[in-house]
Amino acid sequence: MRDIIIIGSGPAGFTAAIYAARAELKPLLIASSVEIGGELMNTTEVENYPGFPEGIMGPDLMAKFQAQAERFGTEVVYDDVVELELDGLVKRVKLGNGGVEEARAIIYATGSAYRKLGLPEEEVFSGHGLSWCATCDGFFFRQKTIAVVGGGDSAMEEANFLTRFADKVYVIHRRDTLKASKIMQQRTFDNEKIEFVWNAEVTAIHGESKVSGVSLRDTVTGDVRGLDLDGLFVAIGNDPRTHLVHGKLDLTPEGTIAVEGRSTRTSVAGVFAAGDVIDPTYRQAVTAAGTGATAALDAEHFLAALGNEKAAEAVLETEFAVVD
Ligand SMILES: Cc1cc2nc3c(=O)[nH]c(=O)nc-3n(C[C@H](O)[C@H](O)[C@H](O)COP(=O)(O)OP(=O)(O)OC[C@H]3O[C@@H](n4cnc5c(N)ncnc54)[C@H](O)[C@@H]3O)c2cc1C
Repeated sequence: MRDIIIIGSGPAGFTAAIYAARAELKPLLIASSVEIGGELMNTTEVENYPGFPEGIMGPDLMAKFQAQAERFGTEVVYDDVVELELDGLVKRVKLGNGGVEEARAIIYATGSAYRKLGLPEEEVFSGHGLSWCATCDGFFFRQKTIAVVGGGDSAMEEANFLTRFADKVYVIHRRDTLKASKIMQQRTFDNEKIEFVWNAEVTAIHGESKVSGVSLRDTVTGDVRGLDLDGLFVAIGNDPRTHLVHGKLDLTPEGTIAVEGRSTRTSVAGVFAAGDVIDPTYRQAVTAAGTGATAALDAEHFLAALGNEKAAEAVLETEFAVVD
């Protein structure tokens, strides 16, 4: 049996692995079979990760995370976790290949998925004018014409933020009313750089090597027209990847895994969660890495307590009151 199994190979998972491996806990990291390296694999230049003043390509950054984790003895398995047994002292992790791994502690770092428009071009243009994160990519659109798709608070927030850089920001929304709060709506209506495109659905994204425009279908008349753009931001929601722990770990009203205070302790002793799967707000590589480090330290303390039988009993009896 292992001390720690880490599920997820994004910034949170690999940072947890670096810390756990340096603490000589010989972690096993389950990286997934398809999306190894997490969300930064879908982007090009990352300019806001500290330590890289010239910027670094997303996949190169993740290769460095992995190399650092492996250098200290992390074992990486390229498979998906399909089932989890989290109760009791021994946690069981079932893999896609049918194998079962056991550990005393689990770090769950499966990230979250930005909702997509469902267009085949999204894969082609991701990181080439198409983005899901204004904080990450707004800087690349100075004096450009761009659009944000969505009608909720985050779409309004992204649109307003992007006017710091872009000359013009369209907000493309399927209906003629917004879901966003009244205050966010007003702030957006008052922003002179923002123009609404109502009752419109993006049906195609165009461009050679990067986005140059979209096709919009009028949801009332069905008419299709083109809109020239330098960039497109999709802000239609985000889903934490929690399906494996439904009914097993407490979740927050936002759907993220609930953790106790500033720790990464979940509602089940010995199970820790880190990264975007616990974060409804910030969702950045550096914040995910930060909670990855916290999770490894929390797991280390938990394992140290297990060494003492009495303490172990007390630890297992603890049900953390993480949500109201
Ligand atoms: C296009 C794009 C560009 C971005 N640009 C930036 C940027 O410039 N700067 C920045 O700071 N942030 C950026 N972000 C946000 C950043 O990528 C995330 O905040 C960060 O990756 C979250 O890290 P994480 O480890 O929590 O999750 P993720 O990176 O999402 O990693 C989760 C991992 O868990 C794995 N996983 C999920 N389910 C399973 C399972 N059942 N079994 C095994 N493995 C599983 C996934 O495959 C994945 O490898 C960007 C995001 C996107 C989508």
